Amino acid sequence: MAIRTRFAPSPTGFLHVGGARTALFCWLQARKEAGTFILRIEDTDLERSTEASVEAILQGMAWLGLQEDEGPYYQSQRFERYTEVLEQLRSQGLAYPCTCSKERLEALRAEQMAAGLKPRYDGRCRDREVLDEGVAPVMRFRNPTDGEVVFHDQVRGPVRFANEELDDLVIARPDGSPTYNFCVVVDDMDMEISLVIRGDDHINNTPRQINIYHALGATPPDFAHVPMILGEDGARLSKRHGAVSVLQYRELGYLPHALLNYLVRLGWSHGDQEVFTREEMIELFDIEAVNRKAAAFDHEKLKWLNQHWMKTLPPEEVAVELQPQLERLGLDPAQGPPLEDLISVQAERVQTLVELVEASRWCFEDFEDFDVGAAKKHLRPVAAEPLQALRERLQALDDWTPEALDVAVKAVVAELEIGFGKLAQPLRVALTGAGMSPSIDQTLWLVGKGRSLERMERALAFIAARAAQA
Ligand code: GLU
Repeated sequence: MAIRTRFAPSPTGFLHVGGARTALFCWLQARKEAGTFILRIEDTDLERSTEASVEAILQGMAWLGLQEDEGPYYQSQRFERYTEVLEQLRSQGLAYPCTCSKERLEALRAEQMAAGLKPRYDGRCRDREVLDEGVAPVMRFRNPTDGEVVFHDQVRGPVRFANEELDDLVIARPDGSPTYNFCVVVDDMDMEISLVIRGDDHINNTPRQINIYHALGATPPDFAHVPMILGEDGARLSKRHGAVSVLQYRELGYLPHALLNYLVRLGWSHGDQEVFTREEMIELFDIEAVNRKAAAFDHEKLKWLNQHWMKTLPPEEVAVELQPQLERLGLDPAQGPPLEDLISVQAERVQTLVELVEASRWCFEDFEDFDVGAAKKHLRPVAAEPLQALRERLQALDDWTPEALDVAVKAVVAELEIGFGKLAQPLRVALTGAGMSPSIDQTLWLVGKGRSLERMERALAFIAARAAQA
């Protein structure tokens, strides 16, 4: 049977990078084996689940291009099914109602802790015929009391738990609503999941879930528990290490593929290869090769990959991400050069799309004033003649390409027998307002003919006014 994996986030917050990496691993393994990738929203905790979080998860997944083959399924729409399975377990004596009060359970816990024991339910209601009245019971799963649960984890290898260590888990709350460990088993069984890939914070749930599968007469899936992501200081990755939400990375100007490429390498490697296309990831990834040790998030490496992919992906693809970024930062994409041209020039000079926008404002809007320092240094009377000469030449130029522009600039430099910088630097200040920009032919190309001529005229007027003052 073809492999079936699922990503099963609880919608109690944004989609964080750890979740995204789990989703990526599930998606890759399914793609690799021509299987099915399922998305399931685990919203049984009605108090903590929010619509906004569901939306953020779906948006994050779509942005990353981790398209589900089935779903999204919602646990909140499956309560009838859970109730049915609960009834089945209860009628078979595999689940039982428990009326132990909170106070009793707390006292029991305190007693066990004081005696140096692991706190666990003592099974008081397990075989009671008569229950306390006036207390809404929870439902507990009758866990086997001896033997052990053994499974082969695809990341961690063999894992064993003694049943003695597991107590009778609450599978339905007093209001009848089912709990996580129960729903997850019913879902994974009904959805015929063959491989559960999830964070290793769930490893202690796995033996309990395996016992529930057995009680239901179902074969448990295979499991792969992936280690958590750490911050650069070795503590669990959190907000204080920087951005942790996937959509935040979009806002910061990262390409979805750069983030995926970064995440696939967190805990997995293929020799010393760092750069992976989507196709290479699918071909080379293997969940069994994931390292069981936790990996640390490295923002610098992510930036490096982002620049790599800005330079390497087809500019049309990068443009899809750049356009909303320009709008968000207050620029009108229609007022500048084709985005593909801009990307081809600027990608190698910046690490994020936000940096790209900030380094390219002069392509989209006129600047208010020349940068004082740059103007003082470069817009001097001696610059007037070369600027004027070039302006005349450019006026007659129809072929507005970097190559033709380069020829024009060099021709003026040769004609006036001046150093290249004597024209290029004043021209740069004239075109962008400041002293830093791509090569001068590319700068002219991006600014465009009409605007370049206007801005050169403005610089010439500035120089004339300055000469008049002196
Ligand atoms: N909903 C669980 C979580 O977000 C994941 C459950 C699972 O993958 O089994 O942590």
